[in-house]
Amino acid sequence: MNNIIRIVDLEVFAKHGVLDEEQRIGQKFLFSADIFTDIQKAALFDDIKLSTDYADVCRRIVDYNTENTFRLIETAAVKTCEMLLCDFPLIEGVRLEIKKPWAPVGLPLDYVGVAAEKKWHNAFVAFGSNMGDRKKYIDTAISELKQTKGCKVIKVSDTIQTKPYGNTDQQDFLNGVMMIRTFLEPETLLDRLHEIENNAGRKRTVHWGPRTLDLDIILYDNIIFDSEYLTIPHYDMHKRRFVLEPLAQIAPFVRHPVLNITAIEMLKEIE
Ligand code: ADP
Ligand code: MG
Repeated sequence: MNNIIRIVDLEVFAKHGVLDEEQRIGQKFLFSADIFTDIQKAALFDDIKLSTDYADVCRRIVDYNTENTFRLIETAAVKTCEMLLCDFPLIEGVRLEIKKPWAPVGLPLDYVGVAAEKKWHNAFVAFGSNMGDRKKYIDTAISELKQTKGCKVIKVSDTIQTKPYGNTDQQDFLNGVMMIRTFLEPETLLDRLHEIENNAGRKRTVHWGPRTLDLDIILYDNIIFDSEYLTIPHYDMHKRRFVLEPLAQIAPFVRHPVLNITAIEMLKEIE
């Protein structure tokens, strides 16, 4: 992301603040933004329609922050980034700083500021169902993810029918993988996937038991991440045919960041 449109110290009179007076009277804020976007194409044709109009961006920042009031400039910074990613299709990422020169600190200072960064990420989500109306659970999950703010479903693989894994005394699975663009952080994406599983009436009783809907994060950019609740890449993806087959269909050359081999190569290795 080396191509940047830069806005520096745009003045906005807004009412963000924790104190009553701040919310009532308002004060001056200064917004600076690095807008990551491909400017090469616009430069090639010298055409503003191929770029993001910085005047529009400035106006949207002012409107958004006068129409909405937040207690924290942290919130204002993150939400303004999200708004810009949603409203301007060519923006790939935003680094935004909000300065508060009149911050009620009671000591002389230049300003207090907060900076936030948000960008679109590429992620792969595997889905599976082996209870009830399997196709309907999967279709509903995909449309719920499509309607989620900060998630765009880019590609969905064909579904394949597979025998259950681990505990084999149950109905066959329908499995597949989708590619999404998201500005949700990995843990927030997982929370959203769990919500969608819960909407499908998913009960977590038997491990590897029958389930109406299972949604797993397979890959998220090329990050390697591990916490108590989340492991990325998914710990077992490189061994599961029902993940690798659909993944190789929609993204044959996507790489496992630890093994450094492509989806097609992983599939070949288990064959
Ligand atoms: P499984 O998908 O292995 O059949 P569950 O869907 O019940 O089992 O998931 C159990 C837990 O695995 C989840 O609550 C979640 O916190 C954790 N988990 C760890 N890594 C991931 C991941 N990459 N995607 C989804 N869940 C994950
Ligand atoms: Mg799961």
